[in-house]
Amino acid sequence: MSKSLSIGCRIHREHAVGSCAACVKFVRTEVGREISGLMPAGGLLRASIVPHTTNLTFEGLASFSIENHARRLKATFAEVDFAWAIFNLDISANEHESGRYSPHVSPHWYGLVAGAQQRLLKSELDARYPSSEVIPNPVRLKPWDGRFRLFEYMFKSDFDRRVGVEASESFDKRTGRIRLSRNTRERDIRAGDRPKLLEFLDRIGVYGRIVVMRAQLRETRSGLRLVLMRQQSDAAVGQGNRGKAEITKFRDLRIWRND
Ligand SMILES: [Zn+2]
Repeated sequence: MSKSLSIGCRIHREHAVGSCAACVKFVRTEVGREISGLMPAGGLLRASIVPHTTNLTFEGLASFSIENHARRLKATFAEVDFAWAIFNLDISANEHESGRYSPHVSPHWYGLVAGAQQRLLKSELDARYPSSEVIPNPVRLKPWDGRFRLFEYMFKSDFDRRVGVEASESFDKRTGRIRLSRNTRERDIRAGDRPKLLEFLDRIGVYGRIVVMRAQLRETRSGLRLVLMRQQSDAAVGQGNRGKAEITKFRDLRIWRND
């Protein structure tokens, strides 16, 4: 959590507001610019991690602990090889058209991981976030292509209601067989649930949604900066040449850009 940060949009300059789309956009632009400007795309993995929270309702958001949720993510990464990572909380409302599972809210993580081996990280995360009927793919990792679009997924102010529909049959051209596919339709969050969601976003704040590991998000005169923590980056250097090259470049650029 990045509690000391408060800078927001033009209106909420001094105190960013969690439910303000412009504040979220401000942070998205700043973080996106920092990462795109300082890091080559190669070696960064985009990651989506969905913890099992099938009992959480919109009413339950009032007492939902984002700190505990983040603590579990951090505990997981404490046992994993990586250089640094940044995650932001995404929220979806999940339900099934014929009630195969009960409607629930899913606060999950979307972010970037640097200096990790995709296969290794995937198997370690898979062991900690098991799949279920509701969440068939709790862990998704993909090399980041360097496009800014990623930050639009990462820093969202508009959330979906995902309605699961019965498996449909389709013809698989590759195998020549009929296969069953699971489908989800995206809908708007129900009007009655919106106030509870906005209340939650205001309570945790824009920066309360962000988890930065082995790095730090700092507020400077010229905006937000992502800075690697020195002792952590030294430890991460031992992870192989690719990681080392990235970190060196990151730090050099950081010095060069210092104001
Ligand atoms: Zn704002």
